[in-house]
Amino acid sequence: MLKDHKDWLLRCFECGREYEEEPISSRCKCGEVLELVLTKNFPKINDFDGVGVWRYSKTLPISGETQIITINEGNTPLIRAENLAFKEGTKLFVKNEGQNPTGSFKDRGMTVAVTRAKEIGAETLVCASTGNTSASASAYAARGGMKAVVLVPAGKVAGGKLVQAVIHGAKVIRVSGDFDSALELMALEASRRRDLYIVNSLNPFRIEGQKTGAYEIFEQLGKKIPDYVILPVGNAGNISAYWKGFSELKKWGMTDKTPKMIGVQAAGASPLAQLFQNGNDNLVKWDNPETVASAIRIGNPVSWRKALTAVRESNGQLLAVNDQEILKAQRDLASEEGIFVEPASATPLAAIEYLKDSFKKNSVVVSIATGNGLKDQGVIPVDSEKLPLVSNLKELEDYI
Ligand SMILES: [Zn+2]
Repeated sequence: MLKDHKDWLLRCFECGREYEEEPISSRCKCGEVLELVLTKNFPKINDFDGVGVWRYSKTLPISGETQIITINEGNTPLIRAENLAFKEGTKLFVKNEGQNPTGSFKDRGMTVAVTRAKEIGAETLVCASTGNTSASASAYAARGGMKAVVLVPAGKVAGGKLVQAVIHGAKVIRVSGDFDSALELMALEASRRRDLYIVNSLNPFRIEGQKTGAYEIFEQLGKKIPDYVILPVGNAGNISAYWKGFSELKKWGMTDKTPKMIGVQAAGASPLAQLFQNGNDNLVKWDNPETVASAIRIGNPVSWRKALTAVRESNGQLLAVNDQEILKAQRDLASEEGIFVEPASATPLAAIEYLKDSFKKNSVVVSIATGNGLKDQGVIPVDSEKLPLVSNLKELEDYI
């Protein structure tokens, strides 16, 4: 049973229709995604208590009586990137979300969505993903004593990406035919069966968990808001979540400032950057997106409207960088700062090359590193057969 609806509701981002609980497939009747809105009991800074995502529980739509499903997500480091500082006086920080339990930012949202699933009595989580979402959903299902079903497109499965889902005990099922319609059917089915719960990125409870990244940055900077927040954009949920977090801090009177939000796509999967650059208002989806940054290889971003609003309201921008630039930035971050991220997470650093001249002097810039580099080792060419081989100290000294 739902315990307490009085503090929040779900509102359609497009038509404004309101819901007291998740409707069919977590979408509005008009097809658009929903936003969760706190309607009263706005938190104060003194309400923040504890560590990680649940430090901000007063801002989260979960009843105090519900059992929290957590693996200590959040509380990720905000690392000052001294060596890559690109302009005198500019402070560049990397928010390393790869240090979450399953190695990506998805855990922030998953702890809230899975706790919500538990709250309404669901026993099985369902998601369609071959990457970070399936890893996270599988781990939180295991933690919560629930089952996880991961749907993957038949014929397009990269085995390495499913390792985490498999080890956490998820049921991985291939879906033939048109993947989107198969997912839509599953979602409809799930809405009829309350024991099945969809945790794909349109789930508004996930966005609520992800927004806590913004609160953490605010606190880590000594209750200050950065000038720019730059992050990768695939399905476009995370940039929307960070914007929600920063906007809420302002709305609640904890600050009077918000950052400029800058979203970065891979050139081979950049429908949203293209829309923004052309000044259009409607998304044209891409059929065959292609990029080395697999975590943002998405041609039809589900939260594009929210993301566009975040960028326009914050006076930010959307841009694209190519695969060579992404791989160079990934290597720079690893070799200059000791931070190994997956390719998608290097897009902000690649974008800074284009943006740095427009930054004001003494700007504070935060780049969101969404996933750990260990997740996608296939993109780093290492041939162990070609490494130097020595058999005595003399040869070793020659090499060193
Ligand atoms: Zn609607």
